[in-house]
Amino acid sequence: AESQVGAACVGDYPVLMEDATGRKKGFIVFGGDEEEEHRVGALAIIPLKGMDGVIGALVMESETPIPISATDAKNLRLLGVMAAHALETVWEIEEINRRARTDALTGLANRQQFEERLSRIVMETNRFGGSCTLIVVDIDQFKHVNDTHGHQVGDEVLKRVANAMEAEIRNVDLCARYGGEEMALLLPQTDLSGGCQLAERLRHAVGSRAFVIGGREVGVTISLGVATYPEGARDRDELFAVADRALYAAKRGGRNQVVAGGL
Ligand code: GH3
Ligand code: MG
Ligand code: MG
Repeated sequence: AESQVGAACVGDYPVLMEDATGRKKGFIVFGGDEEEEHRVGALAIIPLKGMDGVIGALVMESETPIPISATDAKNLRLLGVMAAHALETVWEIEEINRRARTDALTGLANRQQFEERLSRIVMETNRFGGSCTLIVVDIDQFKHVNDTHGHQVGDEVLKRVANAMEAEIRNVDLCARYGGEEMALLLPQTDLSGGCQLAERLRHAVGSRAFVIGGREVGVTISLGVATYPEGARDRDELFAVADRALYAAKRGGRNQVVAGGL
């Protein structure tokens, strides 16, 4: 609140200064790393009021002093009301979109977002070259976890597994929950050997320790199938099919392992 804008927002009052040239030292409009030489002639600050209080401010400056009429002041306040409303509407839409693309239990991308990204990553690979890799993951004997510890503990295990996997990937990678205890990772610009290395890291991150849930230690392992486009699959659907086949081979091979798929 040391800046003019900050103070106006905290106090929720408008500032209308027709001539700010006589301001004293320490007069800061925005704060942060604002320049000392920031010259202000006239200044108007209109706090934007959202549903739960002030959400920002509309700030107008002139390099030279100018008169601000009562009509100007009224119009500024009106503009502030409209801007606040528009901002809140946009944020609300963003939040709705985010929820529609996110799995509520784990916070991972949901199936819809996964399908969109799978199509896009294949298109981008066609356009820019290189390879992309898909890893599909299934928790081993998860029914047993539910049967032994209950569904709630099962849910918590799912969350922990999701967190452990997300901690291993890069920003550009996508980790999605596309089924009950099935997850998938999309890795742009990654070849089969890079994908297998990550898959091994994920297997280790999940399987090498037990999660402590409600005082109980619950350990799970995961099986993973890896496939790469374009080397290991001719299109988007085949990429998924090849990775899924590799996953089933990992299950048949005794679980808790990574299998690389190919045509
Ligand atoms: P496998 O090693 O062959 O994968 O054995 P599995 O028991 O994990 O495989 P299966 O597909 O037979 O069963 C998956 C189980 O995952 C069935 C269901 O009880 C459980 N599951 C699926 N979604 C959820 C969920 O959201 N929460 C909980 N707690 N369990 C779930
Ligand atoms: Mg399954
Ligand atoms: Mg399973």
